[in-house]
Amino acid sequence: MSTVMDVQAVYTLIDSLKSDGYEVVGPRLRDKALGYVAGTNGSDLPAGLGDDQSPGNYRTRDRGDGALFGFRSSPQSWRRWIFPPNAEVWSARRDNDSFVVDTSAPDSMKVAVIGARACDVAALTIQDKVFLDGQFQDPAYKARRENLLIVAVNCSLDADSNTCFCASMGTGPRVQAGHDIALTEIIEGDKHYFVADAQTDEGSRILEGISGAPAGTDEVAAADSAISNVADSMGRKVDADGLPELMNESYESPRWTVVGERCLSCTSCTMVCPTCFCTNIEDSGDLNGVATRTRSWDSCFTLRHSHIHGGAIRNTNKARYRQWAIHKMGTWQEQFGTSGCVGCGRCITWCPSGIDITEEVTAIREEA
Ligand code: SF4
Ligand code: SF4
Repeated sequence: MSTVMDVQAVYTLIDSLKSDGYEVVGPRLRDKALGYVAGTNGSDLPAGLGDDQSPGNYRTRDRGDGALFGFRSSPQSWRRWIFPPNAEVWSARRDNDSFVVDTSAPDSMKVAVIGARACDVAALTIQDKVFLDGQFQDPAYKARRENLLIVAVNCSLDADSNTCFCASMGTGPRVQAGHDIALTEIIEGDKHYFVADAQTDEGSRILEGISGAPAGTDEVAAADSAISNVADSMGRKVDADGLPELMNESYESPRWTVVGERCLSCTSCTMVCPTCFCTNIEDSGDLNGVATRTRSWDSCFTLRHSHIHGGAIRNTNKARYRQWAIHKMGTWQEQFGTSGCVGCGRCITWCPSGIDITEEVTAIREEA
């Protein structure tokens, strides 16, 4: 059964998570952007702040309505809390004539993400396929995943989300699975409230400790209607029908030459994407005889990423963009049984050239 909560109850929810030993990661204004930061208190939530996003452009703005979650995709998703940008894999130290290898114990800190959007929760389930469902499991990822609690927020406030296209990718704006609690924020005149639903036993236990009242049919209907409005008026869309086949057959498309002339191979799109998982391994040593192996996020837009014997096989920006787009929208399906794109729109907003994957896919479909 849904519960209706006021703004104060959301602050209480955060306090309650902290009392339960969770590190709370939530949205906050930092460096002129609304991103997810650890150590969130209720007073840190960006009340009344929203954002404007378009290709290559991001600005925060005052909404004037006190909304706690009145913004769209954050510059970075919160994948960094489960899959950190840099992580030590192991280190080795001298021990007389031999050496000893130390592997750090998996992180056991409990993390609660508050304000997670449907696209990012969907992206997490895609990353699970990469790190947990294959032949080998990543123990560090597994430990962080098992200690993760997700308080999701359905997108209900902005009906003109310019760069988002989750509705057409089937991942939002309502969170579908993988969360513990879902909140829907409603602002109607002077009424400001949340409709809360628990999805797991842990979510139910937490919500039981927060003051609220059973939601009436009007409140549930208002929440459904607000989410539908966002879905119906999303600024972009991708025709997902037959998309993997379309992309797989697009290798010789002249469109790749056009977009390759705009792409800078800056890697920004892959750094902000919530589903990207490529890493690089680097070894370093110090004068005390300690060697360390570190895993860091990598990008298929770097030249070295495709380096095999004799050099890189994707030498041009065109080749690298084509590889990225065909993988995201095409071959990912064959590899993991899902699309590699959840429609969060970050790669559009944060591309310095304003390259828009929805525009590229549409152009390729029209050509075909
Ligand atoms: S490809 Fe772009 S829109 Fe799709 S999930 Fe990645 S960043 Fe988001
Ligand atoms: S598509 Fe845009 S963000 Fe991605 S590498 Fe090229 S220029 Fe950078």
